[in-house]
Amino acid sequence: MTQHLPTKPNLNTPMRTIGLLGGMSWESTVEYYRLLNETVRAELGGLHSAKVLMYSVDFEELVALKHKGDWAQIGRLLAEVSLNLEKGGADCLLIATNTMHKVADVIALSINIPLIHIADATAEEIKRQGVKRVGLLGTRFTMEESFYKDRLIHQHGLAVQVPNSEARNWVHDVIYDELCLGQIRLASRDRFRQIIQQLADAGAEAVILGCTEIGLLIKPEDSPVPLFDTTAIHARAAVAWAISGSGPS
Ligand code: GLU
Repeated sequence: MTQHLPTKPNLNTPMRTIGLLGGMSWESTVEYYRLLNETVRAELGGLHSAKVLMYSVDFEELVALKHKGDWAQIGRLLAEVSLNLEKGGADCLLIATNTMHKVADVIALSINIPLIHIADATAEEIKRQGVKRVGLLGTRFTMEESFYKDRLIHQHGLAVQVPNSEARNWVHDVIYDELCLGQIRLASRDRFRQIIQQLADAGAEAVILGCTEIGLLIKPEDSPVPLFDTTAIHARAAVAWAISGSGPS
């Protein structure tokens, strides 16, 4: 696996502990855990592994609140858990889902440790590679609402394209009805490929896999343009911070 770390590991200071707010869904949290450890091993060698403190929620409870549109309660619950991660010794926080970054500001205000924002980490990587125009795939929340798209556009200067509304609905449903349940279907992969092709045809130089489960189904070879997998980028950004002291503080 290629590593893109901004600075060299600082072996004079102990590795910091990554707080992982997971379970949304646990299918992708497993990937985070693997990627965090693989990246630390690649960087530090030997038997080094990531220092991780995880809280894994019962996703169904949060999805029920989402259906009711009760984002205030989601924010309160996730902020409480995040504070507990901090009290337990986490030095930073990763919210291991793009969608739940809708309440990232509430969470950030409730804790005293840095929150490594998934959209910022992804945008930094995109800019580093000189890409300006990206397609965005994720849940309807992520593709349609301002908390994510506007951050990419206004804070990072990227041009962002999303699929048409029929395709957005389809992607959203596959995320919750298949990928979050661990179901990998070839027919869904084919349709995803078509949607990615359409984004590329419409001018996207690259596509953001802006949902932490999409990488379970879609790989670089499924796309005519580079893919930015938010799960992998987020995990690498956290390790870079944990071992070098670089990144948000
Ligand atoms: N893991 C997904 C994401 O990255 C969706 C699940 C959720 O609603 O948090 O957006």
